[in-house]
Amino acid sequence: MINRQRLSDEFARLAAITSPPLRERAIASYLAERLTALGAEILFDRADQATGGEIGNLIAHFPAAGRDGDPLLMSVHMDTVDPIGEVVPVLNDGVFTSASGTILGADDKAGIAELIEALEVVREQGIPRGPLEVVVTIAEEIGLVGAKHLDYSLLRARHGFALDTTGMGHMVLRAPGANRIRVEILGRESHAGVAPEQGVSAIQTAALALAEMKLGRIDFETTANFGKIEGGVACNIVPGRVSLEGEARSHDSAKLELQTAHMVACFERAADATTRTIGSERVRPQLQIDIQSDYPRMMVEEDAPVVRLAQAAAAAVGQDLTIKLGGGGSDANIFNAQGIETIILATGMRDVHSPKESVTVDDMVTVAELLVEILRRA
Ligand SMILES: [Zn+2]
Repeated sequence: MINRQRLSDEFARLAAITSPPLRERAIASYLAERLTALGAEILFDRADQATGGEIGNLIAHFPAAGRDGDPLLMSVHMDTVDPIGEVVPVLNDGVFTSASGTILGADDKAGIAELIEALEVVREQGIPRGPLEVVVTIAEEIGLVGAKHLDYSLLRARHGFALDTTGMGHMVLRAPGANRIRVEILGRESHAGVAPEQGVSAIQTAALALAEMKLGRIDFETTANFGKIEGGVACNIVPGRVSLEGEARSHDSAKLELQTAHMVACFERAADATTRTIGSERVRPQLQIDIQSDYPRMMVEEDAPVVRLAQAAAAAVGQDLTIKLGGGGSDANIFNAQGIETIILATGMRDVHSPKESVTVDDMVTVAELLVEILRRA
């Protein structure tokens, strides 16, 4: 049923179009042409204006063919992490890798190729399907930027799939939400040899805060990290300023708030502990703490219609489809927060974001088969 050669050629074409975040014009025009030929009406939203990118998100409306019903969403992203060079895909023994020392970009072009092949098959075999909305976002890899700026008024679908997780044979229903935490500590600068009594060390405040902070794995669904620290001027100057960047993630919103509050409280306590009297003045290090929601958590129930649809389709084509816990944010987090119940399907990509990235033609054929069955049943 699946045209293996056509699918493999499609992937090779897509992978060879270099598409780092916000520089997606070339791949977007290729996709617009390809999806138009498959029967879609193409729109681009204005996400480029808000993001400084070359082009907005692509939205392809496929009218119902032979069956009415609620529209189904299929989503992929057109950008890759910056390959730092031209991607030269090469196929050896059924395995695609990059021959140029770059990433391959199977994340997310494996998903795009699988979806296009499924649409080809559905069309050439005249398989009846309901209305379909394909969304191809920009700038997913730099913080879900396209999905965050998508014009949701252009979509009618209330449920669907994101083709965007590694490995094979599983789907992701839950993924954590995350907060990004930026802290600036302002102490007081002074010469460390001549007048240390006049100084308040911002680095010492930061060190105290981090020393008592719960970081790493907090529990089975919560993690936290401070990953960047910057400050100070010279070894003979009491540091007056230090900045830190960290994050907290959890599958549970209440735990995310609790962990974030704990991290803030550690800085407050450290500021108290490093407050000192200089002359007649009480000097408490100033804290500027900025907390931003990086992305909301996603949680789709195991008995949701879209999960049942995937399971029924997998069973019909004799494939295993297990449920896996997601560890990071993806466009699906944003779609779910927008009220579009979206689960993530594995696309066969492996070792993503590295020069070892690969995908096999066999795995892409398997996923395309599943997608045809999902479209048939949606
Ligand atoms: Zn991806």
